[in-house]
Amino acid sequence: MAERCPHCNKPLPERASNAAYPFCSPRCRTIDLGAWLTGDYRIAVPQDETERDGPSESQIRGSSGDSEVN
Ligand SMILES: [Zn+2]
Repeated sequence: MAERCPHCNKPLPERASNAAYPFCSPRCRTIDLGAWLTGDYRIAVPQDETERDGPSESQIRGSSGDSEVN
């Protein structure tokens, strides 16, 4: 049973020769980790520089009953 890359959903290369496990490639790993670290899951260009951003609170929770934006 082949495992799949959690980022692009492609079948993973052989694990023994896959340094980027559990991703299919270092690129996918960088993109995926970067997305998680920024808290915004989207495809972005991998950046080596770490940007220091203040805590951004774009979403205000408090009112119940609101429908989620889709
Ligand atoms: Zn991948």
